Amino acid sequence: MTTLIESNEHKSLREAVAAFAKTHPHTLNAEDNKRLWQEAAKLGYIGVNLPEAYGGGGAGITELALVLEELGAAGNPLLMMIVSPAICGTVIARFGTEEQKRDWLPSLADGTRLMAFGITEPDAGSNSHRITTTARRDEATGDWILTGRKVFVSGVDIADATLIVGRTEDARTGKLKPCLFIVPRDAPGFERRLIDMELNAVERQFELTLDDVRLPADALVGDEDAGLLQLFAGLNPERVMTAAFGIGMGRHALSRALDYARERTVWKTPIGAHQAIAHPLAQAHIELELARLMMQKAAHLYDAGDDIGAGEAANMAKYAAGEACVKAVDQAVHTLGGNGLTREYGLGRLITASRVARIAPVSREMILNYVSHQTLGLPKSY
Ligand SMILES: Cc1cc2nc3c(=O)[nH]c(=O)nc-3n(C[C@H](O)[C@H](O)[C@H](O)COP(=O)(O)OP(=O)(O)OC[C@H]3O[C@@H](n4cnc5c(N)ncnc54)[C@H](O)[C@@H]3O)c2cc1C
Repeated sequence: MTTLIESNEHKSLREAVAAFAKTHPHTLNAEDNKRLWQEAAKLGYIGVNLPEAYGGGGAGITELALVLEELGAAGNPLLMMIVSPAICGTVIARFGTEEQKRDWLPSLADGTRLMAFGITEPDAGSNSHRITTTARRDEATGDWILTGRKVFVSGVDIADATLIVGRTEDARTGKLKPCLFIVPRDAPGFERRLIDMELNAVERQFELTLDDVRLPADALVGDEDAGLLQLFAGLNPERVMTAAFGIGMGRHALSRALDYARERTVWKTPIGAHQAIAHPLAQAHIELELARLMMQKAAHLYDAGDDIGAGEAANMAKYAAGEACVKAVDQAVHTLGGNGLTREYGLGRLITASRVARIAPVSREMILNYVSHQTLGLPKSY
């Protein structure tokens, strides 16, 4: 039987990923994390959205989000799934040359290679129209030369290359004309500096300097003039996947709190019988379910080829999931009392981790701005 929301295939995939994730320890070291990534890839989970002709599973963002959600619900989120298969894999599959597809997609799918994604800049932040990383052509050789800075880019150290969003120098209109470049990790002039984040996670963030990084002509992905369209083809999946990341983490925290609330007894009944404990947990569950529905809608629209419709839904899903995640983690920590902050129970570290879903890749406020302007037709303040 097929339900409106999730097919039997999806349910089976969900169960299989959940069972797989449970067999792995919580990954707080790079080695375990890498093993988890590679085993998940071998089972076809990491490249489930990539085209079959290039070693992927031939499914969509719906399935990829489902995988990430279940890994996260088991306490094993793989942050780089938001980036490597979802943004980079999608952009290359949709706009890359035949050679780029053959070069990158099979290895992104089978887990042997990873790609990071860099758009955020220190002086632009949420205002990506202001990015200044500049690509200019060397007319003699046809090479591209990239100069600029990026910040908070995840996983550059473990990624074989980073997909960098730049802009062409001769943009006469002054409007954003993004271009995407594959920059190998060891390209001369491509330097990274680790940012000391207060995040207890395997994936690390870097500030990047691109100092006249020379790239061959075929480092450009897609059309130099079709920038925004191509960029959004990758950013909508990123938002759906961040929603999956938040929902998975929220579910994980909630399930830990429920286990505790059923057992812990300091008066006559377990603490879960007190409505002050039970109701916020019930609210957290409802909000996570609602966020998941919006995420499924966004993924469905995206997979159906509706980039515009998916844009609005993916923003709303990311917003809902970020808020639901922060709230679920907050309530879970509180449910455990002092144990909410012990290393043994592992919930305290989620306080900072959950905030990532509210800030990145687009902040709560920027989504509210988007909905105010695009959906509700209100004027802009900036
Ligand atoms: C853990 C982590 C991983 C990340 N990974 C990546 C990555 O892999 N690649 C990458 O490119 N980036 C990455 N980022 C960067 C992330 O996308 C940015 O942090 C995010 O887009 C916000 O930009 P900012 O930090 O410059 O904040 P700012 O833009 O400086 O914003 C600061 C605050 O001001 C608010 N604000 C700004 N403008 C407005 C406005 N017009 N109206 C109302 N409020 C406003 C924001 O909502 C926010 O609360 C990561 C960030 C984190 C924390």
